[in-house]
Amino acid sequence: MRQSQAFIPTMREVPRDADVVSHQLLLRAGYIRQLSSGVYSYLPLAYRVLNKIMRIVQEEMDAIGGQAVLLPALQPQELWQATGRWDDYGPLMMKLKDRHERLFALGPTHEEVITALVRDEVKTYKRLPLILYQIQTKYRDEYRPRFGLLRGREFIMKDAYSFDRDEEGLDQSYWAMYHAYERIFQRLGLSFRAVEADSGAIGGSHNHEFMVLSSVGEDTIAYCSACDYAANVERCEVSPPKPDTVIRDDVLDAEELPPRKEVPTPGIRTVAEQARMLGLKEADIIKNVVVMADGEPVLVLIRGDHQMNEVKVKNVLGARQVEMASEEDIRRLFQTSPGFVGPIGITGIKIIADWAISTMRRASTGANRDDWHYIEVNPERDFKVDLYADLRVAMHGDRCPRCDAPLQFTQGIEVGHVFKLGSKYSRALGATYLDEEGIAREMIMGSYGIGISRVMQAAIEQSHDAEGIIWPMAIAPFEVHLIVASEQDEGQRSLGEALYAELRDSGWEVLYDDRSERAGVKFKDADLIGIPLRVVVGKDSAQGLFEIKVRKTGQTYKVSRNELEPLLRNLKHDVSALVADED
Ligand code: ATP
Ligand code: MG
Repeated sequence: MRQSQAFIPTMREVPRDADVVSHQLLLRAGYIRQLSSGVYSYLPLAYRVLNKIMRIVQEEMDAIGGQAVLLPALQPQELWQATGRWDDYGPLMMKLKDRHERLFALGPTHEEVITALVRDEVKTYKRLPLILYQIQTKYRDEYRPRFGLLRGREFIMKDAYSFDRDEEGLDQSYWAMYHAYERIFQRLGLSFRAVEADSGAIGGSHNHEFMVLSSVGEDTIAYCSACDYAANVERCEVSPPKPDTVIRDDVLDAEELPPRKEVPTPGIRTVAEQARMLGLKEADIIKNVVVMADGEPVLVLIRGDHQMNEVKVKNVLGARQVEMASEEDIRRLFQTSPGFVGPIGITGIKIIADWAISTMRRASTGANRDDWHYIEVNPERDFKVDLYADLRVAMHGDRCPRCDAPLQFTQGIEVGHVFKLGSKYSRALGATYLDEEGIAREMIMGSYGIGISRVMQAAIEQSHDAEGIIWPMAIAPFEVHLIVASEQDEGQRSLGEALYAELRDSGWEVLYDDRSERAGVKFKDADLIGIPLRVVVGKDSAQGLFEIKVRKTGQTYKVSRNELEPLLRNLKHDVSALVADED
């Protein structure tokens, strides 16, 4: 493509409303423009990158027997009501009405549509297993659209769905997909990690997220320093305490602990303030979190220096929705302000506690009276708990649930997700098949997503420098950026034209900077745009020499015209082997 005619609106200044480098670079280098919050136009360079990502994804999906389809974005309300997700999806779903006042969703995902389709068309075991996939635009009215393409409200996703006869079949489809994802992210040139993810109330490790390691990632990954355990912190298990540290009634008596005492704590709002005022450590405080689980109040007890894990709470309660109780709810239920709630003397409200609470002695907690707390509180002696469970977020100092070595933490961007659904959707929508004996059985499903547009930006987040983007070869918009230093120089210009034709004839994807800009401007733009290999036709071209520069390493080579193409081929091979650095 000739750059003089190309639609690549680069800009010098850093856009004010873009917080992360990858978003800034996509804007500055002329790849994307925002239409409204979380909604972007992909310009020619971006579209070329997206196509390359999609091609790799398609090849790997086809390789495991996936068949490409394209399903509607516009989906009738009734379909979503049949699975209960019209309500469960909540405000994340974009909804609209047609002229007959019928409600529709703009698809945030396609389990409903695909299950209904396969239900209607696949009736016998002979047609299973089946893997269908599509690459399509998804709509989610995200609470906080941000970071450009990383969290859009309209974005491109590859979603695949597997249909099997039984769990064993699903297991095969699942792992075939898992390995396809590994190949995809390797081919894309990303540094990534597959981590165990939350599976909701079902549990088990049949749900993995593929994370691009990056400091701007919104997910935290816990991984073991010794074995290969890695999990989203949402999911990362915290082992129960050693039995001898747990408070038992007989131990309590023997220790002759002092009696509980009520003390004034005027105006206290936080655990830190409470600890300071009472001369205690945060680990001596029992935090009280009131949640509404499907409308029912539950008091959740967490140690002061720990953080409640909402996902774990939701799973333990088997609830569809868990929300923080409002201040009014708390006042009505506990007759006090949120900062003074406590488990002592409470009846009729379920109390669940993190494991760590069972090891606490001489603790402090709210007295259900404004401006008062208890001290010298001992769980089991002073209050009973309905259920102890793992309810907190894993943190620094915790140990691996598999091998007990210390856990490490890092940030990640979720670029892919593989998920065993089982019969959740086939049951709700009646997707059955007849087995060899003519007995109707539910199809066993899996669901597998990749954020295509998110991947494009995640790749930049992982691979850039102060000057601009550094594309992995596999997804670069062009392979070679051919630059004529001085268009005014007739010799350089005609050599540039000749090389452009030559390189294209031998199959290279070339962006040819034939603009009559100063050389400095062209080089700056080239660094910004990030094409892996650069060929410069400059002064030395009169002596038959050209410069090749590798964007990633900065290495330059002076070569003759005969040496040019072979060296480019070698460099392409070397650059392709480079995987992005983790930051
Ligand atoms: P997140 O936790 O980031 O909100 P999710 O778990 O809700 O994502 P999935 O339903 O698993 O997302 O969707 C499959 C893939 O689609 C994700 O792995 C991610 O790469 C991509 N994706 C999801 N939401 C967005 C979004 N708002 N913008 C861009 N890509 C997205
Ligand atoms: Mg996900």
